[in-house]
Amino acid sequence: MTKNETLAKSEQAADSLAGKVAVVTGAARGIGLEVARSYAAHGAKVVISDIDDAAAADAAGTVPDASARRCDVRDEDSVSDLIDHTLNLHGQVDIVVANAGIASVSPLAEMSFEMWRTMMSINLDGVFLTVKHAARAMIAAGTPGSIITVGSVTALHGTPLVGHYGAAKAAVVNLSKTAALELRPHGIRVNSILPGFAETALVTSNKQSYSDTVGVDFDAIIKQAQGGYVSVEDVAALALFLASDRASFCTGGGYVVDGGLTASLF
Ligand code: NAD
Repeated sequence: MTKNETLAKSEQAADSLAGKVAVVTGAARGIGLEVARSYAAHGAKVVISDIDDAAAADAAGTVPDASARRCDVRDEDSVSDLIDHTLNLHGQVDIVVANAGIASVSPLAEMSFEMWRTMMSINLDGVFLTVKHAARAMIAAGTPGSIITVGSVTALHGTPLVGHYGAAKAAVVNLSKTAALELRPHGIRVNSILPGFAETALVTSNKQSYSDTVGVDFDAIIKQAQGGYVSVEDVAALALFLASDRASFCTGGGYVVDGGLTASLF
């Protein structure tokens, strides 16, 4: 083998998730599905989990070495079942991505408490429960692990009409830092990904309502501020890095993938 071939092989090895088992919540579509695809392509066995079990099963059918399990991240029994199911099926859980989330738009002064609570229950409680049960399984196994939470650039700045979403995401980033410190002695890394705006169902189902309320075309704002939409592949590339041994010294971090959106004041 030439020196270049040896180098290429060791580069591939650093990216490899062979022998690892990954669980991704909210993975029936969008960012979660692309993360699941990328993990499977790099050798992991993947459990694709979603509240929509039919969609999760369909998605798992398109990903090699993947299976599906229903999980509603708002419900502690459901999250605990997801981790137990994975342990029963594969004997281990090495990578858990707390990705499930929703979005809605409303000015705070008009936001119903129900809308606020729904946001918190999925986007914050759901992440807490996922991190909690992932951590318990990894601590019990005594093996290293990587937990990745999906935050958002809205965690870093005020964002009109999504105050509930941004507040939940800011809490997710903070929760992940504390989890990283508590779990470091166990060799478990915890990091957050903070994507800019990606054109998934979460965004497409809300952008008209956003545009109507603000009176500015949402796509135009994204083009000007972010240079276009972040792709799910861009987000998955970061999720692959954080799950892999390449990121062995990365823990407690929040990593933006946003085309420079948060670099600018205007
Ligand atoms: P998406 O709507 O395409 O996918 C979200 C998935 O979560 C869906 O399959 C949905 O069924 C599932 N889900 C919803 N409620 C659930 C629950 N209670 N339990 C389990 N699963 C549930 O959205 P996406 O854009 O792929 O979002 C994925 C994550 O990325 C979310 O946390 C979102 O907040 C975050 N994010 C998205 C963007 C973006 O611009 N799209 C930007 C920053 C962060």
